[in-house]
Amino acid sequence: MIRFLIIGLLFYIGYRFIISLTSAKKPLTKPAGSRDPGEETYRDPVCGVYVSEEDAVIGRHDGQRHYFCSMNCLEKYREQLDHSSPS
Ligand SMILES: [Zn+2]
Repeated sequence: MIRFLIIGLLFYIGYRFIISLTSAKKPLTKPAGSRDPGEETYRDPVCGVYVSEEDAVIGRHDGQRHYFCSMNCLEKYREQLDHSSPS
């Protein structure tokens, strides 16, 4: 009889353990590094970093706006354009 009680207790502990695991998986806070979804971000074509319009260095090329994380990347991008175009 005591055996059944122990087995029942183990099942109960296991059940509670699983419940605590599944509830712990629910994210309580936003994962670190994620930006505000309302804020639009642009990908720096040189280094691949995502920048917000506010932080970005904006370069224009062929009527298109390109967003860079720094002037350094903008310069690199311009260099690449110079090298790729034969004219
Ligand atoms: Zn960059």
